Amino acid sequence: MEYLPNIVFAIALIVGIGFFARNVKKLSRNIKLGKDVDVSDNKPQRWKNMAKIALGQTKMVVRPIAGLMHIIVYVGFIIINIEVLEIILDGLLGTHRLFSQLGSLYNFLIGSFEILALLVIVAVIVFWIRRNIIRIQRFIKPEMKGWPKTDGNMILYIELVLMTLFLTMNAADFQLQQLGADHYVEAGTFPVSQFIVPLLDSLSESSLILVERSAWWLHILGILAFLNYLYYSKHLHILLAFPNTYYGKLKPQGQFNNLESVTNEVKLMMDPDADPFAAPAEDDTAEPEKFGASDVMDLNWVQLLNAYTCTECGRCTSECPANQTGKKLSPRKIMMDTRDRLEEVGKNMDANKGEFVPDGKQLLDDYISREELWACTTCNACVQACPVSIDPLSIIVEMRRYLVMEQSAAPTELNNMMSNIENNGAPWPYNQMDRLNWVNE
Ligand code: SF4
Ligand code: SF4
Repeated sequence: MEYLPNIVFAIALIVGIGFFARNVKKLSRNIKLGKDVDVSDNKPQRWKNMAKIALGQTKMVVRPIAGLMHIIVYVGFIIINIEVLEIILDGLLGTHRLFSQLGSLYNFLIGSFEILALLVIVAVIVFWIRRNIIRIQRFIKPEMKGWPKTDGNMILYIELVLMTLFLTMNAADFQLQQLGADHYVEAGTFPVSQFIVPLLDSLSESSLILVERSAWWLHILGILAFLNYLYYSKHLHILLAFPNTYYGKLKPQGQFNNLESVTNEVKLMMDPDADPFAAPAEDDTAEPEKFGASDVMDLNWVQLLNAYTCTECGRCTSECPANQTGKKLSPRKIMMDTRDRLEEVGKNMDANKGEFVPDGKQLLDDYISREELWACTTCNACVQACPVSIDPLSIIVEMRRYLVMEQSAAPTELNNMMSNIENNGAPWPYNQMDRLNWVNE
């Protein structure tokens, strides 16, 4: 019976981490459904980008208030979780405040964690007010109704509860230390939780132990539950922001990728020595590759990683000229739709022994409409604004490419322009021979 708490703790830990590992496997499988893309170039620059953008959060502070508070929550949450290591070891070994042997360093660490916890609580409350009372525009766009709104608030509530439990646990511990209770070694400084102690003044030693143990257990079980909640939430970005910024685009933002097959075709057309009647090379007899993307499997894996990394912050949408002028397009929705469809495909595979069974749906039309796609000005403002190097424009371009090259379904104005370029070498409806007519007018 003496070891019962340790056994229960070990089981909780194994179950929590086991489910998390299962979700990570699913996540990795879904991302790998994307096409291959070579992102092995310029590794030093990629590491630099990751350090600057994901770790240093340089793009977050473009909006100073939200940026600063985000840094507090991020740093606070990460650093406080160092204490989780002590909690895990205590839970498994049956010790209490194992690291207290570090002496004054331990006191300093616990004191710092408490101050950070308080700052996290303040930042979380401000975030909640911005979302729910002030109702900042980018948080109340149509795509933020339902689950995305609940998810955004849920994360704030969970962080608030975890930080409160941490401080409550410390307050009860501090009081037990003062009473000289067994196992409660004198360790730590409590600059914040000491103000909770008066609330516990009237409790007996056994009640205090109950409060301390309850807060301890709820804190660690809450962290394990939160770990598993990540997969279903936009909060997945706390993990994926790192690979996503590493694999982000290094080329100038305005540089689009060209399809190799089309480039070769054009080169052949421009080559005066090419034999127009030559038999196709052996490779050319293979089934032609699909142009562009109509579903998630046609996108590359970095684009799918982008979709899972999206924090739904809406900075892209708030900078998007199409959205600002009342068009249906929201780059955030493009990313959310891509993730939702990818999840749907993943569930389909789970239900069919790992094979995708066509479900009569696709990303185009069922999730993202043509109206949204053609509203884009390709200005790249969304890419520039994204704090985690997501590129919604690349998905829009791939889907447009599909519409133009596979379905010939470009809007009439574009079709006219493309016919003119093909026939006249310019977007205008005039013969090349007439180009200089204006001189005589
Ligand atoms: S590139 Fe398109 S989606 Fe992105 S901000 Fe510009 S118009 Fe909006
Ligand atoms: S794409 Fe980037 S800027 Fe847009 S909502 Fe997602 S994380 Fe925010």
